[in-house]
Amino acid sequence: MSAVSAPSAPISRDDLRTFQLVVQHVPNMVVIADAERRIEWVNDAYTSITGWTLDEVRGRRPAAFLHGPGTDPEVVARMREALERGEPVAGVEVLNYTKDGRELWIALNIQPVCDADGRVHHYVAIQSNLTERKRFEQALSEQRRLLQQALALAHMGSWEMDHETGAMVCSDEMYRLFGRSRTDCACHWECFLERVHPQDLPRVREAFAQPTPQRPEHEFEHRIVLPGGQVRWLLQRGRTEFDPEGRPVRTSGFAQDITESKRNEKLERDKQALEQLSRAKTQFLSYMSHELRTPLNAIVGFSQLLQSRADALPPTVARYPDLILQASEHLLRLINDLLDLSLVESGGLALSRDRVDVPKLLHELIVLLDPIARKRDVEVRMEPGARMHCSVWGDSTRLRQSFINLLSNGIKYNRHGGTLTVRVLPGEGQVRIEFEDQGDGIPADKLDSLFEPLQRLGRESGDVEGAGLGLALTRSLIERMGGRIGVRSQVGRGSVFVVEMPRAEEDDGPVSRPAPWIEPEALAAPRPYGRVLCIEDNEFNCLLLEGLFEQRPGLAVSYARTGAEGLLLAQQSPPDLILLDMRLPDMDGHQVYAQLQQDARTRGVPVIACSASAYAEDIRQALSEGLAGYLIKPLSMPQFLATIDRFLPPPVEGR
Ligand code: ADP
Repeated sequence: MSAVSAPSAPISRDDLRTFQLVVQHVPNMVVIADAERRIEWVNDAYTSITGWTLDEVRGRRPAAFLHGPGTDPEVVARMREALERGEPVAGVEVLNYTKDGRELWIALNIQPVCDADGRVHHYVAIQSNLTERKRFEQALSEQRRLLQQALALAHMGSWEMDHETGAMVCSDEMYRLFGRSRTDCACHWECFLERVHPQDLPRVREAFAQPTPQRPEHEFEHRIVLPGGQVRWLLQRGRTEFDPEGRPVRTSGFAQDITESKRNEKLERDKQALEQLSRAKTQFLSYMSHELRTPLNAIVGFSQLLQSRADALPPTVARYPDLILQASEHLLRLINDLLDLSLVESGGLALSRDRVDVPKLLHELIVLLDPIARKRDVEVRMEPGARMHCSVWGDSTRLRQSFINLLSNGIKYNRHGGTLTVRVLPGEGQVRIEFEDQGDGIPADKLDSLFEPLQRLGRESGDVEGAGLGLALTRSLIERMGGRIGVRSQVGRGSVFVVEMPRAEEDDGPVSRPAPWIEPEALAAPRPYGRVLCIEDNEFNCLLLEGLFEQRPGLAVSYARTGAEGLLLAQQSPPDLILLDMRLPDMDGHQVYAQLQQDARTRGVPVIACSASAYAEDIRQALSEGLAGYLIKPLSMPQFLATIDRFLPPPVEGR
């Protein structure tokens, strides 16, 4: 507000009337008030802007009806004081209100009008309406505030640099990003460059030094090092303006903190690399499983054949096949456990979600393990309550495998004449299964390593056979199925292994049965006649099959070493049964099977897969494609014979 000195010549009331006539129709609001600042006259613009007519305001002080809640009382007081001193006021901005309550910003110029003695007899106020401008200013400042807020949220600083001086104008966020304050930084780009990571500095300097009118925009990433040593990534984007001679004048741009997205990018890259590694590991394991089982098939198979003809062997060597079989069974268990453990740990083990009736499963397993329990004189007892139905969620095959481990440990590490008590305790949302033995127990300092692989906890040289893999695998499987496993033990008294599995409610769907290939083969009456085609490339396996088929002398067996040869033989003379190796030199078993299905001559022939892959996923896939059965190598002779008997045609009367 600037004071303007009072006019030197006095103005009469007649002069004012002339003035009224002149300003009646000007666009500004004009008010004439008496010495008491009561309104005497207002022009048309006043009425149209404020809504108040002359009749309504005559004799009233403007403050009485124009001011409102947003009017600044200090500005009003200062104005009044100036007027009381007889001084004019100029350019004062006040928030008034129109008659209907709308905000009305005005710029006020008030001139006291004096008589010849210098006494104020009137005031003339000329007011302009600033409301639109104020609204625009308010909208602008709100936009600026929002922009600043957005830039701060996006960790984005804005800046502008003068190329001649290197001086910069920066937003607050820019200082914050660089760990600078307005006081410690000379607002020169060198000051910001100090924070740039030494390895990135040449690149940053180059990017700023070389803008050309052809390439006025830049975008690049670099690191900065904050005072505490913390490294952050920034993305710089900017544009340079040039003078007519093509010299850079000014560059303006944004710097954005992209550390988080860089970190996420790295995490994503690491994750992909890990996934690739895990896929490679799974492939390798499946290859290894196949390669290790193939020779075992020959060892186990020929030992079984020898065992079946033990009568023909000299008495001194007659028990060797038994010993070879025992050792190879041990080796097979070891291979299976090792591969399963690696597979589950690499995340490559596919698990199904089945509803499993736990008491029923345990009961079956207790019957299965009865021969071992008898041998060790251990009584396995299910507590009466455990006989009721109670289901959990888990992969039925893997749950069975886990329970076999816990039951056989409870038998193996029990005392002679001891008891293994099994309890099933249904709870809220979960089911607890306890295996309590009366063995030696496990010392407290060994409990921690109990579930680690290859830990036998001092049993390495004892008479109990094992490799220290069962519990590690059991824990991994139980946890992957959403359960937990723990142990309580007292040296000299025994141990309690406790498994908790997610409970399945009775109305959660049908109870799952383990896949059919694990079920004990239903014993069929031998079917001695028929024609069998074996598609198998491995020489040892063919020899073994020949040996096994000697047990069924009435069968006519032919052999094909490749998929193509097998298809040809099958089509020329469709057999009664096909045994199909799933990995052949020219194609895989799935392709052979698909082609057999496409041909009307072979479509009805049952096909049994014969594979060294024991993965549940592979078995499920083969059975779902329509293969009639799946025999896992190493082949068990009884299971092999039972399976082929089942699929061969019934004997024809009189043959
Ligand atoms: P394994 O039985 O093949 O050695 P496990 O992983 O099943 O492998 O068990 C690891 C070790 O934990 C065993 O060697 C044994 O020392 C100990 N252990 C397991 N179960 C029991 C048990 N019920 N009582 C005492 N010790 C046990």
